[in-house]
Amino acid sequence: MLNKPQLLSQVDSTQFKDVHYIFTDIDDTLTTDGKLTAGSFSMLWKLKEAGFEVIPVTGRPAGWCDCIIRQWPVNGIVGENGAFYLKEEPDGVRRFLHPNVPAQAQKKLQQLQSALQQKYKSLRIASDQDYRLFDLAIDFAEDEPKLDLSYAYEIADFCTQFGAVSKVSSIHVNSWFGKYTKDSMVTYLMEELLEVDEWKHRSIFIGDSPNDEPMFRLLDLSCAVKNIEPFLPSLEFQPQFITENQGGEGFCELGNVLLQAASKLS
Ligand SMILES: [Mg+2]
Repeated sequence: MLNKPQLLSQVDSTQFKDVHYIFTDIDDTLTTDGKLTAGSFSMLWKLKEAGFEVIPVTGRPAGWCDCIIRQWPVNGIVGENGAFYLKEEPDGVRRFLHPNVPAQAQKKLQQLQSALQQKYKSLRIASDQDYRLFDLAIDFAEDEPKLDLSYAYEIADFCTQFGAVSKVSSIHVNSWFGKYTKDSMVTYLMEELLEVDEWKHRSIFIGDSPNDEPMFRLLDLSCAVKNIEPFLPSLEFQPQFITENQGGEGFCELGNVLLQAASKLS
């Protein structure tokens, strides 16, 4: 969709009456200035209690996702940009890998890291890299000093030329080997693992950055928090809606609209 996003506050909430699955990015969507806000966490509980199924879709590592699936009020989580889906079952946490994750993924990532470190002497490997299984994250705006977005795109180009898939988030450049993306993992999850009919009409996604673009393209309903604005010109596929608030407050804005749509039904 190439149209500019519509302000969420000006949209009739009945548009969202069929939504049951809420896919959400985490960084700068549920969080504000790096922290999960009290409002966002409380909204996750409200949505769960209202009967919605919430599934975060993130570039964050397997280690974080393991903690989130055990402790947050969510129904599942897609991590490392689509490499896997975690679900809590009565006997423990189960991990489902995307079918395109290559067997040699870790070895190739090590080669990419060495090549990057040779070219960029001050390269910052993301501080959460030790908890990742299938992706290499280079920090440009999580820790200080914050670096320019053009640097992030240069790193991403280098990784792409090395044969990796590379995406720029609001804080990291994430690179991995194997043809998988957030949207293809969500499709695999809904069609093969959960076998949900008509799922695209019953789902919404909310995110904040270029690495969320495949999800904006995938679903009939998509929303971005206000802080996406600097990235909008670089997106081929725009979110349909945009919130008036940034980060966690923007997520709550959408949450309230969905709760309102659900209450009109009951
Ligand atoms: Mg984000």
